[in-house]
Formats: sequence, structure tokens, C-alpha cells
Amino acid sequence: MADLQAIVDEIHDKLAPRLGEGKVADYIPQLAHVDPKKFGMAIVTVDGEIFKVGDADVPFSIQSISKVFTLTLALGKHGETTWNRVGREPSGSAFNSIVQLEHEEGKPRNPFINAGAIAVSDLVLAGHTPREAIGEIVRFVRYLADDDSIAIDPTVAKSEQATGYRNFALANFMRSFGKLDHPVEHVLGVYFHHCALAMTCTQLAKSGLFLAASGRNPLTGHTVVSKQRARRINALMLTCGHYDGSGDFAYRVGLPGKSGVGGGILAVAPGRASVAVWSPGLNHNGNSLLGSLALEMLTTRTGWSVFGH
Ligand code: GLN
Repeated sequence: MADLQAIVDEIHDKLAPRLGEGKVADYIPQLAHVDPKKFGMAIVTVDGEIFKVGDADVPFSIQSISKVFTLTLALGKHGETTWNRVGREPSGSAFNSIVQLEHEEGKPRNPFINAGAIAVSDLVLAGHTPREAIGEIVRFVRYLADDDSIAIDPTVAKSEQATGYRNFALANFMRSFGKLDHPVEHVLGVYFHHCALAMTCTQLAKSGLFLAASGRNPLTGHTVVSKQRARRINALMLTCGHYDGSGDFAYRVGLPGKSGVGGGILAVAPGRASVAVWSPGLNHNGNSLLGSLALEMLTTRTGWSVFGH
């Protein structure tokens, strides 16, 4: 195998002069305080080897990357009926867009745009209080990463709760179509809290490893989902994980991936490794600018791709 440590070191060196490029998300006030020059990357292979560089062990707000974990939970709870509530098609519009929702009568295009993830939060909430649902999500992510130190940053959750007008609009709109079972405040309480999970690149790469290893986390031996479900979640990450930048990400990186406005990206190289990268500056689609570039450099060097080798 290629010398992955040398490769991540080289990526870090090459990007060092560019750190700070892109625009840090500031519509969530608490995220605007992050140092734009942070950069971390961690690779966890299916053999359990870990390679990391830079700020790979500094926690950051995973934001929409958490939507992969809530979708996994919702599918575990509701199985295929999940798809009665949310679609599986790329949206071709921004992560927080409202226009499509009116045409499609409150059924969001996919589970990774905000409206879709809000519908998924509603499904995770079934049979629970918001506090219990949030607890279930945190326990699930700790189990995936095999790390009980993972927690939600309450200041980020509060910051978004206070200013998330757009998400309130989306949720109210869905509720008006009868597409949410629970009160909007409860659903968004769950949504804002899972978006506010703080994790390091290393923790994130570990928690995504089951997707690279046919549903089983080789570090813990836990079977998280079936092989088929792992493939399907990967398919959704590839087609929808970067919003209206998903085509570009597939073209340049060639792997399923999920981004968050905190500047993180989780990418899955099936049969090989799970990779997490963090650089807070975003491109115009709200995806990490240098994070995407780092993953492009990684897959160019290693030949990792779901489209051939
Ligand atoms: N919590 C953020 C929001 O709802 C997540 C967006 C994202 O990471 N793309 O706006």
C-alpha cells in the first residue's frame, strides 16, 4: 500500500500556504469564531491503521455530517418506510433551499439537505422526548467511534436555536403539509443538537469506518448495518452529500462524502478506509474549500475511487 503518512504530510505541506482560503460560515454566530487556518486530516483504514496530520485531534462542529448518523438511526428504526417521508434524489439546490419543498408538497428531496434532515430528526424522535432522542444520537455516535468523550457543544446548539430562522421556516412549512409528526420546536431541538456535535477528524473517521467496511466496524467488531444498507448510504452520500456541489465532488474526489458548514468532510473509500478532513473556509456551495482539495489530492495519489482503479 502507498505510504499514507507520507501522503497526508505532503497534502498538509502543499496546502499550508493556502490555509484561511474560503469563507467561514457565519450565519451560525458561534461558528464565526473558529480559526479559519485550522486544518486536520485523519485516515482510518479497514485494517485499523490510523494516519493523521495537523489539527486532526481538535474537535470542531460536525454540522451536517451528523445527518449520515441520524439517517442510519432512522433506517434502523423505521426501515424502508423512511422513504415515505424523504426522497433519494439529488436536489440541485442549496442545502437550506425552500423552493423545491413547495412543489413537492413538503416531502424533501433527500435526507442530507436541511429539510430532509429535519424530516429524519422527526423520525428519530418517534416514541421519545427530544432529550431522549438527542441522548440516543450521542450514544450512537460514541458507539460508532468507540469513544465516550464525544459530546454536543451546547453553545453552538443554542446559537443556532436563536438564529435558525431558515430552518424554522422549513420545518413550519413541512408541518403545514402534515409532514412532521412532532411539534416544530421539538424536531428542531433534536436537529440543532445533532448538528452541534463536536468531534475530531480522528473520531469522525472512526465513526464512518462501518461504511467503508460493509456495515461492520472492524475496530470494535460491531455490525452496525447490513452490507446492503452500507452500500445504499454510500450511494446517497455520493449523489447528495455535497448539495448542489455533489457532482463536482464525485468528479474530483470520486468517493461518497458528506460535508458540514463547520468545514468538515467525511469521505468513504469502500474496502479501504474512512477519511475525515477539516478546514473551516467554505466554497460557494457551503462545502469545505481546502477539505475538498485535500481529498482530491488524496484520491489522486492513492487511486482510491468508486469509479475504477
Ligand atoms: N446546522 C446547519 C444548518 O442547519 C447545518 C448546515 C450544513 O452543515 N450544511 O444550517
